[in-house]
Order: sequence, then C-alpha cells, then structure tokens
Amino acid sequence: MNRRRFLTIAGSTIGITCAAAMWWPKRWKYIVIHHSAGSSGTIEFLQQVHRDRQAGDPIDAIPYHYVIGNGNGLQMGEIASDWRRDFNIWGTHVSANNMSRNFLGIGICLIGNFEEKNVPAKQFESLVSLTKSLMREHTIPGRNVVFHGMIEGESTKCPGRNFPFDKFRNAIAT
Ligand SMILES: [Zn+2]
Repeated sequence: MNRRRFLTIAGSTIGITCAAAMWWPKRWKYIVIHHSAGSSGTIEFLQQVHRDRQAGDPIDAIPYHYVIGNGNGLQMGEIASDWRRDFNIWGTHVSANNMSRNFLGIGICLIGNFEEKNVPAKQFESLVSLTKSLMREHTIPGRNVVFHGMIEGESTKCPGRNFPFDKFRNAIAT
C-alpha cells in the first residue's frame, strides 16, 4: 500500500470512528419504564439479577440505565445508576424481540412491585423529573416514552397494573 492510500484509509477510519463516538451518546430514541417486581433493590442487587439472567455477559452491570429507589435498599426517590449509564452502553431490559428498545432505549427501573402496590408519591416525582430531563436532553418525544409490557412482542405486566399510566403521561406532557 502506498503512503497516500494509507493516509486516505487511516483518515477515513478516524473520521468514521469520531462520527461514531459523537453519535454514540446521542443515539437514544426511547425511554422504557420498568418496575423491579420486588420489594427492595440496590445497584448490587440488580447487578446480580443481570448476572443470573445473562451469565457470562462481559457487561457486568445493571440491566437498566437508571434505578429509582423506594426506601428499601436505596432511599425513597433516590436516582442511581452505574457504568452502563456512564458509557452509554445498550440496555438489557427488553427481550430479544425488541432489540431496538435495548440499543436505542434508556431503561428506567422503579424498585417495587406495582402489580401489588401503588407507586409512592416521592418515587413517582423522581420518575417524572428524570424522564422529563432525559426527554429534553435527547429530544425524545412523549410517544417514545414507553412501558415495558406495552411494547409489542413483550410478555410481561411490567411496570404493573397499579402504575399510574395516565397520570404519568399527563405529567411528562407539561
Ligand atoms: Zn420491565
């Protein structure tokens, strides 16, 4: 390979890499809301959930990008995250039927089981403010804020029948 050809290839490789690096943290198109379906939870606990579900995954992180505590493990309304969020790594919060929601969707998990209980007010407030700030930051429209179990092809009741769907929709619309 001559020098000119090498420089052309090297230059375009760097260009593509830079473009990809700039696109990577800006690619988010969806926000997917979940519940943990358990009464308590922490980052360590969710990391273990992921290890159990996907043994051997080199991304040893929680399945979601954000977790919102309920006072059992994390503080009530506390927003926590780990390196999946820091490096904008794809999520593992939706099934393989909907990989675009994993790759392009920010996963938020509320600790709690809302098939059985109601979402505490403070936890709900944190969810609304986090969702709104992510919608602003990534220019995500309300229609792309979705609930796990309502995505076609998913067989789960997540985030639970007691989740205040209408109230949440209204809250993020203002
Ligand atoms: Zn879910």
